[in-house]
Amino acid sequence: TMTRTALKVGVLNAWYGESHVLHGMDFDVAEGEVVTLLGRNGAGKTTTLKAIMGLMEKRSGSVEFGGVETINLPANRIGRLGIGYCPEERGIFSSLNVEENLLLPPVVRRGGLTTEDIFDLFPNLLERLYSQGTKLSGGEQQMLAIARILRTGAQFIVLDEPTEGLAPVIVQQIGRTIERLRQKGFTILLVEQNLRFATSVADRFCVVEHGQVIDTLTRADVDASTAKLNSYLGV
Ligand code: ATP
Repeated sequence: TMTRTALKVGVLNAWYGESHVLHGMDFDVAEGEVVTLLGRNGAGKTTTLKAIMGLMEKRSGSVEFGGVETINLPANRIGRLGIGYCPEERGIFSSLNVEENLLLPPVVRRGGLTTEDIFDLFPNLLERLYSQGTKLSGGEQQMLAIARILRTGAQFIVLDEPTEGLAPVIVQQIGRTIERLRQKGFTILLVEQNLRFATSVADRFCVVEHGQVIDTLTRADVDASTAKLNSYLGV
């Protein structure tokens, strides 16, 4: 069967000022696939997501999204191609309530989830509809951050450490959400430190070290590669 490429990253370099952080990242993500970037602290995973989203001022190489070269596009144009980003800090507006946070981002494409679909996926957000951003738990904030992307019509979701700081039961809930999004046809690229979580949700893993992809594993490889993965992650 033919699978189409949703995202193709080629020889991607990026710098913070004079500091050269990405050294030729190469990987791709097929439509409908869930791919995780794994690697130690400081390997360049977050920077890769920022470079894909157009949030790194100095970058070079190629980032093709749905066949469109985006390396010279500003972040707002990249977002309008249907790629939604949830940063590590989640970016919930603390003075706005759940409903306001949800409705704030502009709809960029047709086919976004309705608020009904969203509350079906995240019933606890409906219960918290008029609660202020500051009153939400970490898990609720993470769910709201994902939910508001789904409303915009983005089909490609980029998540930076969605499980960070969350209790195990909430981590499982996020895992089930990602599985349901996969079933709905979304494509997902995420950064994870939690190896067990990553192996439960992702189809493929790109191991990042010093701003490069040094290995790619499929879900089927994982069981046979636990020792190798642990050594990559320094566990
Ligand atoms: P982490 O899990 O710690 O976020 P990471 O793999 O996502 O790890 P990055 O955050 O992409 O790593 O960082 C890659 C390198 O870039 C690190 O050496 C880091 O110190 C450096 N770096 C990150 N942000 C900045 C910044 N704003 N200015 C300068 N250097 C930065």
